Amino acid sequence: MRRLLVAITVSAFSFSTLSFAKDSGITLKNKECINCEIVVPEATGPIAVFAGKELKEFLSKSLGADIPILKSPSGSKPAIILGDSELSRSNGVDISGLPRDGFVIRAVGGNIYIAGKDDMRVNIEKNIKGGGWEQLYERGTLFGAYDFLERFLGVRFYFPGEIGTVVPKLDSLIIPAADIISKPDYSQRSVTAHEGIAPDWKVGAESWPYKNLNYSRLRLQTNYIPNCHGLSRLGYIKRFGETHPEYFALMADGKRHNDPAFPHPGQLCYSSAIKEEIYKDAEAYLSGKPAAERGVVNNYGPGWDPSGCQPGYFNIMPQDAFYPCQCEECKKHWKDEKSTSKFMWDFFCDTAERLKKNNIPGYLTTMAYPPYRIIPERPIPDNVLVMCGANGPTRLNTPEVNDAKYLKQWTDKLGKKVWIWTPVQKFGQSEMPGVPHITPKCIGEYYKLQKPYIFGSFMESHTDYYIYNYLNFYIFAKVCWDNSTDIDMLLKEHYRLMFGAAAEDMEKMYARFESNWLKIIGKSVTTNLGPQCITVSDYELWQDIYSDMEIQNMEKLFADAETLTACDGDSLKRVKFMRLHLLEPLKKQREIYLGNKNEISDLAVFAAEVSSPVAIDGIVNADEWAGAEKISLHPFKESPGKVKATVETTVMILRDKENLYFAFDCTEPFMDKMKSSPRKLDDKDIWRDSSVEIFLNPSGDRKKYYQILVNASGSISDCEKIGSEQNWNWNSDAKVVVGKTDKGWSVEIAIPLKKLEKADTKGFPVNFNRNRILSGKDQDYVLQYTWSPFLKHGFHELENFGSVEFSRKDDKNIIKNSKFTESPQGGFSGGWFAPRPQDMRSGESWAIVPDTFSNGGKSLMLKSKEKVGICITQYLPEMKPDTEYLLTFFMKMENVSGSGVCVNVWDDRNRWFPTSFYTGTMPWTKQGFRFKSNPETNKKTKSYIRLRLMGASGTAWFDDVRLREVTK
Ligand SMILES: [Zn+2]
Repeated sequence: MRRLLVAITVSAFSFSTLSFAKDSGITLKNKECINCEIVVPEATGPIAVFAGKELKEFLSKSLGADIPILKSPSGSKPAIILGDSELSRSNGVDISGLPRDGFVIRAVGGNIYIAGKDDMRVNIEKNIKGGGWEQLYERGTLFGAYDFLERFLGVRFYFPGEIGTVVPKLDSLIIPAADIISKPDYSQRSVTAHEGIAPDWKVGAESWPYKNLNYSRLRLQTNYIPNCHGLSRLGYIKRFGETHPEYFALMADGKRHNDPAFPHPGQLCYSSAIKEEIYKDAEAYLSGKPAAERGVVNNYGPGWDPSGCQPGYFNIMPQDAFYPCQCEECKKHWKDEKSTSKFMWDFFCDTAERLKKNNIPGYLTTMAYPPYRIIPERPIPDNVLVMCGANGPTRLNTPEVNDAKYLKQWTDKLGKKVWIWTPVQKFGQSEMPGVPHITPKCIGEYYKLQKPYIFGSFMESHTDYYIYNYLNFYIFAKVCWDNSTDIDMLLKEHYRLMFGAAAEDMEKMYARFESNWLKIIGKSVTTNLGPQCITVSDYELWQDIYSDMEIQNMEKLFADAETLTACDGDSLKRVKFMRLHLLEPLKKQREIYLGNKNEISDLAVFAAEVSSPVAIDGIVNADEWAGAEKISLHPFKESPGKVKATVETTVMILRDKENLYFAFDCTEPFMDKMKSSPRKLDDKDIWRDSSVEIFLNPSGDRKKYYQILVNASGSISDCEKIGSEQNWNWNSDAKVVVGKTDKGWSVEIAIPLKKLEKADTKGFPVNFNRNRILSGKDQDYVLQYTWSPFLKHGFHELENFGSVEFSRKDDKNIIKNSKFTESPQGGFSGGWFAPRPQDMRSGESWAIVPDTFSNGGKSLMLKSKEKVGICITQYLPEMKPDTEYLLTFFMKMENVSGSGVCVNVWDDRNRWFPTSFYTGTMPWTKQGFRFKSNPETNKKTKSYIRLRLMGASGTAWFDDVRLREVTK
């Protein structure tokens, strides 16, 4: 809210002259001279000093002269006097009644005063440049200086640096008589301020000075009301884990939740005496007692954790991913969300009432958050502050979601406003590298709309590139400061000031980014859990939304924008900057997707046709399977470097006119521990048993598919799926028999082709999985296996499935024995030359080894000690000159250090893939490179390919090495 004692109109659109009533104005520049100085009186403190520097930088630039900073007014020219001082007070500048972050700008007696409340203890320059991320200190004078620059000079702080900061060059500047008091409408104005590669390509702590400066210039919040799972930040596991296990949630297996290694550890039993400890902690903190008195330890050591405790506030919010305690007392309250909410709010309110009764000052804070989102019936004491989790701006146009309605219910209940936690970000499923999530319009609209109910918001804003957030942050900051901001006007001004003559085109561009992002994350589907929003698939993202056409349109808009700004250097620079930072990463990601798609189309298994039906008897090593291609499943989503026990799973497919036949050969050293029991048809929990899964997409549309699950007891569940819609009434009529093998268990499955709708006669997308579930608590083994190495999040990513092929494709691969299936003879293995034993140096070795992953069931292993190295070679007589080739291979490595692992091709010159070699530990990964062969290839010297562990120690595996001519 702004109180303007003197009516001022500043047009954002014609700033080259800002003139006001001349008789009462203070002239800082006119045609004849530049006439002003900056004054930072002694004892105004470090914030005012910094404000002086900021003001000087932009004022000097705008007026075209070096404006001096003095300690007291010279008296010879108008002065801009910063900070709270005797001088300002004697000129009627009173900051005593200002709320936090507020400031006064007063133009009186020929001088201009800018002052607010400043934290005198903080070394702001050090804090911004090298300090931590907490920019939590009062700096009203600095905010006043920024407002002065924006209001009277038309400076705009979109992001730091020349490109993102608009500084109009003024011919004249006359400040009218003014007495302005400005303060933010929302006291809580917070974002995820430190994420993403900065526009200068700096990352991590190196980029913090840039981001801190932007945070300050946007005038974001300077105090933090704690609300982030405070009960997980008081060290309860360390304090009571051993002495009072009963304080922690009882789990289904009889253990207590007191193991720090659990995900979201330290879930509590809210029927236990931990409640007394929580009360005492709250009382101690709010009464100003030291943490040591209560033995409180946070993640960094003894002390009150600032994320949960801030002066006057104690956060009583439970640990994230709430685990309902299974003790008899707690269990009574988990029957539905309403009773759970009541139980938890009783605990919050009882604690608050006891604090009040004992005259403890301050507030308890908590979020209304699953499973305690529902408003309780009992009155909530006035020393409780509530933060609500809300869906946020990007769901504004999702009809099923109505934040305002929910927030109104809370404010009606409390008789005061709440603050909110809103996601506007790329996170989890929506991470999508290289895709801009610029949504300023809905951000502006959303936070304005919640005005009757909130006193602020944390806008959670994880991102990969900081620039995606700049306009989101800017609009958020402006609406939070002044709810009456005209968003459309503010955005139009941004396009105009940033891009000049290309404003319209660039506005269109940003509108596309916004509507595309809302499409990407805003797909609403109806599930049995109610409406849910899900992100689009990679296919939809790159084929429908950022399609070839869309990228071309954007290219054209940028090209037009460059033409329009050809004579306006500043605007042209900005257009080019945005092209580089917004469009190029997007194009790069699309190319990666298309490249992957080529590789995905490579992933195929051949289903040979048999003349007589396969006997479904569970015996998978029978002769009838001899002609089948074998593929192997590999661990799904295991973090590299973490050694966990794995097992082998081989899958084979055959077919005849009636059926598709599948065989799974599963090794299992612990058959006695294997979990599996007979289940009814279509039991949806079957995956909780040791089981295998077949995914089939017969029509090839990568939309409608079948999932067939079979457990080790021979039970089957099958369904038909489109997106998240599931039809369990569909039946495959599959014939299934499970068997035992020497090394584990097996299953044979026959699926009638007539049950597969629109099955393509050439083949279609498929994938296979295995769930390895054993009894016992020790889970130090890999639970999930899959075939396609392209799956990212889960088993249902159709676009990343491989294919079954009904005829063998000639892929023009010029490498022999690509999959190392031919056995080695001496130093020569089917096409490959390896060093003979007598030629090998100490510590070097190579072998063809079986592998759970590799497609032929075999792979090449290279071993080397003490940074020596080893390689094997194949000559490439079929390689043509001047031809484009695609080199692909699978590789894995363990503890490689030194120069590294690479593939080396000689085609009259040395080529290295990749150019900087692989080192460290990596699970099986597919690599792909394109290159054009040399015109002299195979003319004077013989071309060859070498798989190398070069000048390095460690172990590397290769498989499925292919070199193919690229056909266009
Ligand atoms: Zn309990």
